[in-house]
Amino acid sequence: MKAKVLVCAVLAAMASSGLMACEAPEVKTFEVVRDTAAVQEETAPRDGEEEVLQAKTQAQNKVKADRRILQQVTEAVLEQFEGRGEAVLMDARTGALLAQVGGEEPHGVGSTFKPISTLAALASPELGLKPDAQMNCKGYTKFGGRHFHCWKRDGHGEVGLDDALAQSCNSVSFELASHAHYDDIVTFARRFGLGEAPGPGLAPGGKLLSQKDIPKFVEGYKLLLSVGQHPFEQNLLQMARAYGVLARGHLVQVHRPGDDWDKPTPVELDPEALAMVRKGLVDAVAGPKGTAHWAASKRVSVAGKTGTVWTGQNYRKPSADNDQIYDDAWFAGYAPADEPEVVVVVRVKGGVSGGKTAAPVARELLEAWHEVR
Ligand SMILES: [Zn+2]
Repeated sequence: MKAKVLVCAVLAAMASSGLMACEAPEVKTFEVVRDTAAVQEETAPRDGEEEVLQAKTQAQNKVKADRRILQQVTEAVLEQFEGRGEAVLMDARTGALLAQVGGEEPHGVGSTFKPISTLAALASPELGLKPDAQMNCKGYTKFGGRHFHCWKRDGHGEVGLDDALAQSCNSVSFELASHAHYDDIVTFARRFGLGEAPGPGLAPGGKLLSQKDIPKFVEGYKLLLSVGQHPFEQNLLQMARAYGVLARGHLVQVHRPGDDWDKPTPVELDPEALAMVRKGLVDAVAGPKGTAHWAASKRVSVAGKTGTVWTGQNYRKPSADNDQIYDDAWFAGYAPADEPEVVVVVRVKGGVSGGKTAAPVARELLEAWHEVR
């Protein structure tokens, strides 16, 4: 018996011109055939232990078959990026990796770090900030004689902290960080497992450097840190683990099937602050001004955050009419939004933006996960 899992893959408009930033992604549909022979139910009556054993084996076979499907889908969806796309799907409850393509090389994570830098600001007694605080974005923040710009040059105006996350306002993150200590943000981020290996036997990932370890440190670095830029780099597995904390309030050990792992440990976070951040992540996907709306799905509720990291790299083939520089596009999030079971992190080197390039990929992967869950 075969069951078909239909997977709709969104192709970001990688094909043609510099106008692609203004175009909606193209959509193509393809199919993954799921061989369920291994997971068919045995109908013959059995007794006692043998029955239990049979049920266990069936359950294990189903998990294996589902993982194979998700891995195939992930590879297929990322094919369009010709080796530049990476993704991780992780069970939010246990840390088990459900699918992985790449994801072990650390990079700047961009605005996917904002939920954590926002929580760090809210945890600071010096700031005395409340989760319902209103902030103002006038398009830039002045700090140390420099202007740090929001991506929206004419400003977001008055926004709540949740709106700032949904719309990925840089000025609010800069403003919060300008009142913080660099090392306090770093120390707070460690609660999310950032800066350490995401699980036993896995690549160490990116470090979290303290101020004293950064050559030629300048205070402006704390503003860059708050939006996940230099000198802060993490890999996809580390970010999956961090989003597991946002999703479920506990720190998992990321692990591959068959590897040893310890149970998740609770992370102490202010419930009101966490609720505000989660609302921001829901609104980023489902809200009217959310930057992650291409991650929205009719099949499963998604919460998450985009990131677009300027790299200075030109990933496209050089030609006379192409001198554009492309960024690293990120999406990190989880589903279902209200009772998260899975975390997804996507990074595409040389994408248009997190919203246009990585978010639609995340949606594809979460819909595939939803089919086999
Ligand atoms: Zn702004």
